Amino acid sequence: MNYTLTNQVQEEAIKALADWIAIPSVLDENDSNTPFGQPIQDMLEQAITTCESLGMKTFIDPDGYYGYAEIGEGEDLFGVLCHLDVVPAENENDWSYPPFELTVEKDALYGRGSQDDKGPSIAALYALKALLDQGYQLNQRVRFIFGTDEETLWRCMDKYNEKEEAVTMGIVPDSAFPLTYAEKGLLQLHITGPGSNDFTLNNKGALNVVPAKAEYEGQDVEQVYDYLENSHYQVDKEGNKVIVHGKSVHSKDADQGDNALVHLIEALSERFDHPVLDFVKKNFVNDVHGQNIFGLIEDEPSGKLTCNVASLEVNNQTSKLAMDLRIPVTADKEELVKTLCQSLEGSELKYEEFDYLASLYVPLDSELITTLLRVYRDLTGDMTEPISSGGATFARTMKNCVAFGALQEGVADTMHQVDEKMPLVNFYETMEIYAHALKALVTKS
Ligand SMILES: [Zn+2]
Repeated sequence: MNYTLTNQVQEEAIKALADWIAIPSVLDENDSNTPFGQPIQDMLEQAITTCESLGMKTFIDPDGYYGYAEIGEGEDLFGVLCHLDVVPAENENDWSYPPFELTVEKDALYGRGSQDDKGPSIAALYALKALLDQGYQLNQRVRFIFGTDEETLWRCMDKYNEKEEAVTMGIVPDSAFPLTYAEKGLLQLHITGPGSNDFTLNNKGALNVVPAKAEYEGQDVEQVYDYLENSHYQVDKEGNKVIVHGKSVHSKDADQGDNALVHLIEALSERFDHPVLDFVKKNFVNDVHGQNIFGLIEDEPSGKLTCNVASLEVNNQTSKLAMDLRIPVTADKEELVKTLCQSLEGSELKYEEFDYLASLYVPLDSELITTLLRVYRDLTGDMTEPISSGGATFARTMKNCVAFGALQEGVADTMHQVDEKMPLVNFYETMEIYAHALKALVTKS
């Protein structure tokens, strides 16, 4: 790639990134003065300081949930949605470099947040700075919005959307190139019901993972084991415990996994009478798409609905089933919930919403996507098609936003891992791509 940005702006960007990575902006909910802890507050203030040094107007939410920095004039508001929080640097001893200190070595930028999301955010910010340095005039306002709670519950963007102006269109530098234009809706739910005196279950698991293992210990364990073995499921016995094995995948790829818990529930439903067992048996055995309840829910941009039965706990008082549904972008979530609730009518089961993230969908022929794609392809020659995935970025929080970079083909995804790093070439090329994209979208020609 031919660089048009100067060494000077590249160096300034890396210096700013060093300031950002030095702040361990990990969630701390035990601080009474800030919503997400003092380090995140410090990080928010640091980001604002950086933006002020670039001549932007800034604002920090007095409650500490978000901040933003803006430059330019006009009605339209172009957004760059970033997040300043990072996941903890677990196993700090395994790191080759201190996680909260930027190390530039072996042609890479090392440190927690270098790839997710401080590196890409800085690349976008200094791409804008480079354009302004080169004398380009903005044709609208450009606002960098800094979220502080992306790695957990997105409370930052909930507050932003309650109180602040939505962008007209925008990009989210928190994923991969070329761009993500469709992300399924995410609905996590609980189905609660009565307990059981016949059996107990304690299969807890993360909602976003298809369970690879499910265990049962108790009454009729022999028969449960026999049923599973006769059904050709992978099953072991350890003493008085049955262990069913499946294949774990991310919930968004539930149709490529093998849900051990659903197999166990199927076996248990042969022995015990309980509404939650019936519900799963009737609806989700051999059907991760929930067609028995919803019919075929599918669309061209994002594929089929998937349903992951993630955990089930049953004791003598209550039962709780937890599920993770990935909803196609053109499907109506409220309709699906209505249908689900109807299917529970007459049983003792109740629906409870746990978490919901709306889908993201920007049509491929929109100005935003055609422009971003053209710029990206011209610069890189990479003709990879735009991505439709079940992942989640802030692009879902506002209309007309897409995830754009910064992970490139062939670059290792080290986000959330030990020795998180962004290769220098990836960093410089990302700045270049963002500069050209912003030039095309927000400057006067
Ligand atoms: Zn991120």
